[in-house]
Formats: sequence, structure tokens, C-alpha cells
Amino acid sequence: MAEGPGGGGPRGDGAGRAAEEEVVRRRCRRGEEAEVPQPWPEGPRRMAAGPLVEERFRQMHLQKQVSYRKAITKSGLSHLAPPPPAPGAPCGESERQIRSTVDWSESATYGEHIWFETNVSGDFCYVGEQYCVAKMLKSVSRRKCAACKIVVHTPCIEQLEKINFRCKPSFRESGSRNVREPTFVRHHWVHRRRQDGKCRHCGKGFQQKFAFHSKEIVAISCSWCKQAYHSKVSCFMLQQIEEPCSLGVHAAVVIPPTWILRARRPQNTLKASKKKKRASFKRKSSKKGPEEGRWRPFIIRPTPSPLMKPLLVFVNPKSGGNQGAKIIQSFLWYLNPRQVFDLSQGGPKEALEMYRKVHNLRILACGGDGTVGWILSTLDQLRLKPPPPVAILPLGTGNDLARTLNWGGGYTDEPVSKILSHVEEGNVVQLDRWDLRAEPNPEAVPEERDEGATDRLPLDVFNNYFSLGFDAHVTLEFHESREANPEKFNSRFRNKMFYAGTAFSDFLMGSSKDLAKHIRVVCDGTDLTPKIQDLKPQCIVFLNIPRYCAGTMPWGHPGEHHDFEPQRHDDGYLEVIGFTMTSLAALQVGGHGERLTQCREVVLTTSKAIPVQVDGEPCKLAASRIRIALRNQATMVQKAKRRSAAPLHSDQQPVPEQLRIRVSRVSMHDYEALHYDKEQLKEASVPLGTVVVPGDSDLELCRAHIERLQQEPDGAGAKSPTCQKLSPKWCFLDATTASRFYRIDRAQEHLNYVTEIAQDEIYILDPELLGASARPDLPTPTSPLPTSPCSPTPRSLQGDAAPPQGEELIEAAKRNDFCKLQELHRAGGDLMHRDERSRTLLHHAVSTGSKEVVRYLLDHAPPEILDAVEENGETCLHQAAALGQRTICHYIVEAGASLMKTDQQGDTPRQRAEKAQDTELAAYLENRQHYQMIQREDQETAV
Ligand SMILES: [Zn+2]
Ligand SMILES: [Zn+2]
Ligand SMILES: [Zn+2]
Ligand SMILES: [Zn+2]
Repeated sequence: MAEGPGGGGPRGDGAGRAAEEEVVRRRCRRGEEAEVPQPWPEGPRRMAAGPLVEERFRQMHLQKQVSYRKAITKSGLSHLAPPPPAPGAPCGESERQIRSTVDWSESATYGEHIWFETNVSGDFCYVGEQYCVAKMLKSVSRRKCAACKIVVHTPCIEQLEKINFRCKPSFRESGSRNVREPTFVRHHWVHRRRQDGKCRHCGKGFQQKFAFHSKEIVAISCSWCKQAYHSKVSCFMLQQIEEPCSLGVHAAVVIPPTWILRARRPQNTLKASKKKKRASFKRKSSKKGPEEGRWRPFIIRPTPSPLMKPLLVFVNPKSGGNQGAKIIQSFLWYLNPRQVFDLSQGGPKEALEMYRKVHNLRILACGGDGTVGWILSTLDQLRLKPPPPVAILPLGTGNDLARTLNWGGGYTDEPVSKILSHVEEGNVVQLDRWDLRAEPNPEAVPEERDEGATDRLPLDVFNNYFSLGFDAHVTLEFHESREANPEKFNSRFRNKMFYAGTAFSDFLMGSSKDLAKHIRVVCDGTDLTPKIQDLKPQCIVFLNIPRYCAGTMPWGHPGEHHDFEPQRHDDGYLEVIGFTMTSLAALQVGGHGERLTQCREVVLTTSKAIPVQVDGEPCKLAASRIRIALRNQATMVQKAKRRSAAPLHSDQQPVPEQLRIRVSRVSMHDYEALHYDKEQLKEASVPLGTVVVPGDSDLELCRAHIERLQQEPDGAGAKSPTCQKLSPKWCFLDATTASRFYRIDRAQEHLNYVTEIAQDEIYILDPELLGASARPDLPTPTSPLPTSPCSPTPRSLQGDAAPPQGEELIEAAKRNDFCKLQELHRAGGDLMHRDERSRTLLHHAVSTGSKEVVRYLLDHAPPEILDAVEENGETCLHQAAALGQRTICHYIVEAGASLMKTDQQGDTPRQRAEKAQDTELAAYLENRQHYQMIQREDQETAV
């Protein structure tokens, strides 16, 4: 049976099949074929997900009704059985809102899906044709459930009740009815039209090469353990419905739904005799503090196991330009949705309190260092014993704490599944946390008081650093300018101001210029003030971790002289570092600041208002006495080298002493287009040369060897005609450990062995390489125009005639008249002309969809045309994205248009493509957006 709007599509086979299946259905009703379970349709025959299968199962019920019903009701395929009564759920409440978050309220529905808008292509709807109410409508929005990955039309969500298809159940009811509920988890089987990997039964793949828009069910897979089978009876057998689910490869971190109980609200009138259990429950909790005694609709009853490391994930969805929002959806798929928390929906406290009894709990903080600090402070407050170790998935940029603990400076495209493994395998380490107390300096001269100054520090604890002087001044300026013009400013801009000294002249005029004259610094009883007055630093940093300001290392490696110890984040010592303008500049090129001391306690006295900052939060602090002392140690997870250089498994080849590896590079264009298709990407790669490295090399060492390839005049690559110098921005690609290629963060190269990412060939991504397949698409100013059918334009026009009017150009662009446009331009027409609605020629060319005119304009008009906005705030890229013009988008993006601009609705071009339901275009734009962010950061930090 065909489903969705394409049901009666051009091939016209929808109706026929529907009729055929109607016959099957009637027969089933009469029980004619009821003697054996009907085999699942095999091979090329198409079938529907819902209704037909439902019938087949009903028919089976005729025979083994009782046992199957039980099995099916408890399994994910519960839509094949009558709905179990949902205890407590108000009946007939069909108007439930469509949720995109987990419902923690009393009225949470068992097996509720978590819906996100999607623009997935294909024309199916999970409810099946019989129940699809949108199949005849054009452009109906669709939703995808992040937890089980089914897709339905938005209006069809209600219809899911009819086929009774619920999501993977994330909790269980504590009501008496479910007392005998087994304590194991059942699979949650879902029909799939696309499926990666191999059938667990027969080992063969799921043919889907040409099935991009296929309506055929190729697989049945469990949305907990991800096991997949061909959807035919020879591979997927009924007994599998009843099998317990292992929860898959990440079982150690997944919180089983059997641990999460929905409690019934205790009623005041309860008779103690009958409801003793609940009442005692209430009493028990009321003994605790007011916070803990509050009744909660959900309680956690863990079954401790030494093998488990249950994980709570906290995501700041706003970090890193909404990277977080995307990441949440992945975690909902890999984990129990009730262990994933969106920090924009409330702080970490509630969740941590609820899960406080869980043994071996680990936490994953997804966001910037500020998000991590927030979680650590909440943990301090709750005093969990032992405190759960915190791992970090850094979003955005900067992220010095994340770098320190090997999690890298930002997120590129590592699969979430890999991240979960790292969190599980990471080592537990300690991180010093420092208390900061400020009180007004009573000795300060009253006239030195400053209007804009405050007595209060923005934070009273720090993990990274406390600083005063120039860097705090820049941050403060940045915060102020951002308030005036929020769109223009981001943390990268701050770095630019900082490193380029944009604010420097301003600073010298300002109040903090003679920092050294206005402070007294006593460290562990030693007065450093004379030393500081000699040095005259512009800023002083009290540093806890080795990294500062997006990855620099201001303490350096004091190996050569023995005055100081190397820096550690768990030694109970702070490093005190002074920066002159010279050493600030040197910091960017690998230098370090002036090492002043290492100490356990600081007393800092300021005699006037000075800009200070605490872990990036600035303020202008009035004359104060500030005391810094160790507060406690937080327990953190440090990402470990994946495995030891020696093989762990006996079936592995021992690591050879030397490895001879071919190096091939991949262009950004090919990477983006093909990183899900390993074979094609390998084919598209360009050989660079061969390196010989020790067998136990990590990638850092390997990088040095690869870079040396470039210096050898007769290196393999040098002679190649395709040889283009290796860009300094190249990075390694992991070609082996996931089902796709992904980038390895440069800051993490020392954590990866070369043997882990490559067999006999290493692939590297060179963002500046013009791949063979990239070249024809790239508009370059020197490239000849597309062959033009126009007759040569007489130049004489230019002579005496007045330059053409802008309106003529607009007209030509509107009419898609390339020849005319070219002619007008040659005659002196202004390509930057804009119409009464501020639309440029490019806006017009995009709306007519003329690739030729777009190319011409990109090649000939000033670059400002790219980001020009029309009256309604749209750039040409917004429009091209909304219209789903892929090639034109590609031209515009490659020509350097901004992907970050937002229109009046706050949408970026990517979001416009999403709204237009063009997934691939949206994915492309997202990828470019990310790349653009990384590139800009590189440019801005390299002063
Ligand atoms: Zn539908
Ligand atoms: Zn779902
Ligand atoms: Zn399963
Ligand atoms: Zn199979």
C-alpha cells in the first residue's frame, strides 16, 4: 500500500496495491488464512508499515491471542495490539499539544514521541495510507520523533493513536497494575524504509541503493539497541518480539526505563492501611529538607551494577550557534530521553536531585565552559556523595576547560556515538576550584570611587582564571558594545579585539592604564608588589588550568629553568602570570607570559576601580580586597587515549615497528558531498605521498611527517599536476571507526593513534584544496563566462550614450535576459543598482532562478552584493535557500556570502532551507556555516 502524498503517483500502482491489500484484509477478517502466521512480504513487494502488518498480527492473535497480545503490548510494536489502558491519563483528551521536549509532569503520556520539525525527503508517513490524513495535501509539514525516528505528517500525529504506535517507553508506571512488570527492557521495534548496517540474522545489507524515496519497508529495527533485521519472516522472527533488549552498545551509559517510575500523587485522604506503600513513601521523603521533600511525579529506582556508568546529559541548546539544539536530538536517539536535559527548560538542579541515588553516575555537559561551571556549582550545592564526574562536549568556541581535559576546543562532526564511548571510557580526574571573596577596600581614597564600578564580583568561584587589567577591559567593552549591537558581536569578535589590540589605545586612555600602581598582590604571604611594579604588566592572570583565551598556554613549559613546576589543574596551586603588551602579542604565536609565582592563596588589594573578570564574566570592581583560596576539587572526566598502543585483543595483529602509509587528501567540497559514502570519498581523494612512521605513532607525530612531505622537493606530491600546497588548516579524517568519515579535532591529535584511524592509507581534509569535482563549480573571477549565446556587443555603445539606467538592469535581471544584462554592464551600467525595495540585481536573478545571471553577477559585481539585504531583511542567499535552488546557493556560498545573517524572523539561510523542506540543501548550508565559523575563528585569532 502506498502512503503519503505520492500514493497515487505517476506510476499509478498505488491504487492497485491498495485494492490487493484490501482483499488480504477481508480474508484475514474472515480468518481464511489464519492457520499459520502470514509470512512477512518479502523482497520487492511493497508493503505498508502500519495497517497491513496490523492485520497480519491480528490474524495471528486469532490463534495465540493471549500470549501474543501480552508480548506485543509490551514490545515496541504495541500498535499491533489494542491499546493498553493508560492509567491516570485523562480519557478523550485528543488535543494534547505536540511536544518537542520530554514531559516530566504528572500527566506525562506513556510512550509519547518527541517531535521535531523535519524536511526529510520521500513521501511516506508512518501511520500508513489508511490513516494518513495529509496524503492528498501538498506541502504539509512533517515531524520526526527524535527518540524512535519515525516520520509523520504533522496532522497525522493524532492518527498514531489509531495504529497505537507509541514511542520507546522511557519510564514505567508504579501503579499496582504493573507490579509484576518485568524488570528488563523489551525491544522497541520500528519499521524502517532506510537502514544502515547489516541484518543481524542473515548478515546482508538492506538494499536501499535506489531506495531514496522508497516506500518499501526494508527493515525492522529496535530504537533502543539499534539491532536491525530484514522485514521478512526468514530474518525477523516472532520470538524476537518477546526477547529482552540489551539496550545496545551504549548500554553501560543508558538509563533503563525500568529505573524510572511514575509515582502516583499521594492524596491527603488516603487511608493509611490500604495505601501504606505510598504513604510511607511520602513520609520518608518528608523527613528531608524542604527541597527534597517536594513531591515529584517521577522517582528513580536504580538497580546498581558495577558495570554501569549511567549518564545524565545537559545540553545548552544556545551554545555554539544552536549546535546544541541539534545535538539534543542525537542524544534522544542514543539514550533514554529521560536522561537528556535541555538547559533552556530549567537548570540542572532538578535532574541532579532526582538522580542523586544512582551509583556510578556520570555527567556530560554540552556547552561552553560557562555551562560546565554552572553544573559544577550546582553539584557543589547538592553535595552529592561521591560527586558524579563531569565530561564535556564543547560547543561554540573558546572552551579552555574542555581543551584542558582533552575534549577539544569545539565540536566539529564527531558522531555522537563516539562521544558516548569516550565519556564512558574517560578517566576520572580532579579539578581545583577556587573561591573568590571581595570586600570594599576601606583604605581607598573616596574620590577614586568610580560611577560605573561595583562592589560585587560576577561569580564567587572560578575554574579557569581570575584576571584584571587589559583582558577584562576588552571583555567589558565587548559586553557593552554587544548590548548596543547584539548581532555584530560574538566571542570571536572579542578575541579579535583582544589580540588585535583594537581596544588598546582606548585602554591606555582609560582608567586602568597604570595597573601596577594601583594594586598590591600578596601570594602565600610573599608580597609580589615590587616585582609587579618592575614589570608594569597590562594585565595579571591567576590561572588554574593551562589554557587561556581560546587555547593559548600562558604559563608555557617551564622545563628549561627550574624556578617553577609545570602547571597542573589538580595540584592546589594557582599560577600567577603578568602580561605586557609584548608578551600578549607573543602569546598568540606560542609564547608565554611573565611567570610571577605559583601559590595556594592570594590577597589582592586594589586602590581604585579596575576591570576584572572571572571565567569570562567581567565587571568593573571598585577598590577592593580580594582573597582567592582553594574551594574544593571537582571530579571530572578526562578523555583518554582510546586504547594503549599495544593490542588489547589477541586476534589483532601486533603493532609493527614501522608503518608505511599512503596519505591522500580530500577537498572540503568532496568531504561535504561524500563523507557518508566512504568508498566514493576514497575514490575522490588525491594522493599526497607516503610517510613512514613508528607503529605506535599518534597523530601529532604523524602530522609532522606529513608536513615534511611538502618540503621534500621530490616528494610524491610535488611532481603531481594536482599538487597544491597543503593548507595549514588541514586535519585528519577518521576513516575507520564509524560508518562515515569524520574530522579529528586538531587539539585531540595526541589522543589518537595512527593505527586507529587508518589501515594502509590516511585521509586528510584540506579545506583549501580544490577537488577535481569542486573546480567546475567554483566561480573564480578569471574563469571564462559560460558560453554565451549572445552576439558580441558593440563597444561603441559606451562612447557617447549615457550609462544605462539602473531600472534597465533590473528589468533585464527580472526577465532573465542575460545578454541584455551583459550588454548594459559593458555599457557602464551599475551592477550594484537596487530597486525601490532595496533588492539588488542578484536578488532578482535569484528569484528568476537564473544561474547564468547569478554567475555573471558574482564574477563582476563588488563583493558587497553578496550580503546586501532587501527591505524585508533577506539576503539573496535567504531567497535562494527558501526556493531550494541548490546550485545557486552553492555559487553564492562559495563566493563568500555570510551564512550567519538572519532575516526578520531570525532565520539563517539554513533555516530557510529547512522551512522549505530541502534537507540536503539545509545540511549543505549547515556544514558550510560550521566551516565558515571555524575559518573565521582561525583568521581572527591569527593576528
Ligand atoms: Zn500522513
Ligand atoms: Zn518516537
Ligand atoms: Zn532492542
Ligand atoms: Zn536478513
